Amino acid sequence: MKIDLHIHTREGSDGRATAEQMIEAAIERGLHGLVITDHDCMLSVADQQRLQQRHPRCKVFRGCEATLVGTGEHIGVIGGSLRDIPPLRPEELSAWGSLIRAAGALTILNHPFDNGPELSLDLDSFCPDAMEFLSMNVNTALAAEFTAIARSRGMRPVAGSDAHKTEHVGMFYVELDRDITCEDALVSEILAGRYALASFPGMWNDRMAEAVKCEAAAREILRAGGTIDDYLKSGNFHPAFFHRVAENGSYIPREEFLGLRGDDFTSNKKDQ
Ligand SMILES: [Zn+2]
Ligand SMILES: [Zn+2]
Repeated sequence: MKIDLHIHTREGSDGRATAEQMIEAAIERGLHGLVITDHDCMLSVADQQRLQQRHPRCKVFRGCEATLVGTGEHIGVIGGSLRDIPPLRPEELSAWGSLIRAAGALTILNHPFDNGPELSLDLDSFCPDAMEFLSMNVNTALAAEFTAIARSRGMRPVAGSDAHKTEHVGMFYVELDRDITCEDALVSEILAGRYALASFPGMWNDRMAEAVKCEAAAREILRAGGTIDDYLKSGNFHPAFFHRVAENGSYIPREEFLGLRGDDFTSNKKDQ
């Protein structure tokens, strides 16, 4: 069962498309489910039920991407039957973490090192259950560093597109070993590591080609002392790649993460 764990919508936050359009794109692509994870905003149960009735072929799960005040770090939350999660202050993180776990939610450190080579989340006060290894916003130049952290902290590796538009839905997803129908089951399958990280081959190849092309152009222009304007004038390039390369990062997805299993990593959950 193929599920994209990280999707944004126009109704919930900064997505360009409606939840309905994102679900239609998911079905077209061959996904069996997606988690709507808008910034600081959780899909209501009523909206989930309405969407689910209209699109029975794709499971619609409730999630959220919580923002940490001051650092801008993003923590993905799946399930737990909670309403919106307002931006969190670092000093309340530990108590919040206990609360949300007790509610049955899964927590994910999304796109680690997005803000630079220092992790701005204090993992001693709150360590999420999982870490995003594949998404459009993962800084893969620091893959060795975040993999080491996930292994030492017992965080499961996960994948989700972080799609803000329909064309990116399903770029990365998890393939569960067994079919599930509710969020509680999704959370427990992830916690147990019964899944693998995946991507659709066509989307993977397109992303790879775009990232390689854009990052090579960005490096060339930076080497010659050029600016973002020179980069944008030189071709049909997305600005995000230029900024990433300018800070010695990369968006080129890591092939070694494809097929990686959740249970290749140990879990920090004592009860699993
Ligand atoms: Zn994010
Ligand atoms: Zn996101």
